[in-house]
Amino acid sequence: MGELCSVNDLDQFCVICETKMFGQKCKYICPNCGSRMDCSDS
Ligand SMILES: [Zn+2]
Repeated sequence: MGELCSVNDLDQFCVICETKMFGQKCKYICPNCGSRMDCSDS
């Protein structure tokens, strides 16, 4: 509870295929290969 992530303000690119990912809740999803990345992961 109470997790706050501002994924909408950041652009994240997939480390696998370099496609621009889109934020969904606290995750980034790659629309190309389906890879997921937590937005808190640096
Ligand atoms: Zn990808």
